[in-house]
This record gives sequence, structure tokens and C-alpha cells, in this order.
Amino acid sequence: MISHDDRIRFSRRRAMTAALNLLATAGTALAVAAPALAQTKLAQKIVQYQDHPKDKHQCSICAHFQPPHSCNIVAGNISPNGWCRMYSPKISE
Ligand code: SF4
Repeated sequence: MISHDDRIRFSRRRAMTAALNLLATAGTALAVAAPALAQTKLAQKIVQYQDHPKDKHQCSICAHFQPPHSCNIVAGNISPNGWCRMYSPKISE
């Protein structure tokens, strides 16, 4: 006959196994999804990118700009003199 303590131990073991399986599944899903998310950039048309500044705002002083001609969040060739709706000024010290 199974004692009360044995049943509690069995329940804990099942709960731990279920939790570990859930973590393993979540980790696998993240490992698969992360590279795809990292490679997704916004289309220039969606963010209304233009190859000239807007007022005094331009890519070269945006936090997302990656010299010489890239952006962390917008796809394609990005001019240092360009601008888009996602513009975010670098924080100056
Ligand atoms: S203004 Fe837009 S395109 Fe230019 S660097 Fe910033 S986010 Fe990228």
C-alpha cells in the first residue's frame, strides 16, 4: 500500500518533471524564435523613411543608426542624412 508521504513525494516529482519539461520546451521555442526576431527590420515605406533630414533630425544623430549606412530597426540602405518616424535622438552626456 502507498503511504501518504509516498503520494506527496510522487506528486512533487511529477510537478518538478512537468515544470522542467515546460522550461525545456520554452527554451527551445526561444532559441528558434530569437534569430528570426533579431533579423526582422521595418520596411522603409512603413516608417516613412526619407533620404533627407526632417527639421534638424537625421539618422546620423539617431540612437538606431549604424554607420556608415545601416539602422538597427529599419531595413535597407540608410543615409546618415535620412530620417524616419522611428527617429530617436542619441542621449548626450
Ligand atoms: S531616423 Fe529612422 S532610419 Fe534613421 S537611424 Fe533612426 S530609426 Fe533608423
